Amino acid sequence: MYLVTVMAEAATVLLVEDNEDNLRIYSTILTYSGYQVIEATDGEAGLAAARERQPSLILMDVSIPKIDGWEVTRILKADPATATIPVIALTAHALATDRERAQEIGFDGYISKPAEPRQVLAEVERRLGKPTPRQAV
Ligand code: MN
Repeated sequence: MYLVTVMAEAATVLLVEDNEDNLRIYSTILTYSGYQVIEATDGEAGLAAARERQPSLILMDVSIPKIDGWEVTRILKADPATATIPVIALTAHALATDRERAQEIGFDGYISKPAEPRQVLAEVERRLGKPTPRQAV
């Protein structure tokens, strides 16, 4: 006889951000809170990671190299394989036109930068729920 304990798989957050400071800060708080974090620093890498890893949620800086976050999200939302992954925009542009554009493209949420790490964490928790704390063995 044996016992198998199945741990809940940690929710995975894909963080697409080219600013090194923001990447470190957001990645650290999300990891510390129990999420599994995948980091990408440009649009091509973000697109590939989204397709291959099927994250639970994507935090998408819109201003990133190679393919910008608007275009990456448009591509993801047009593809049935990735369309249902929630994508939260991170943008320094708090303009009303940007909000409209974000809605048109299909972003599921919107965070204006500079964003407090706590604010980013709160948005992720609101969407995914708080991760189950890892149990000590
Ligand atoms: Mn950027």
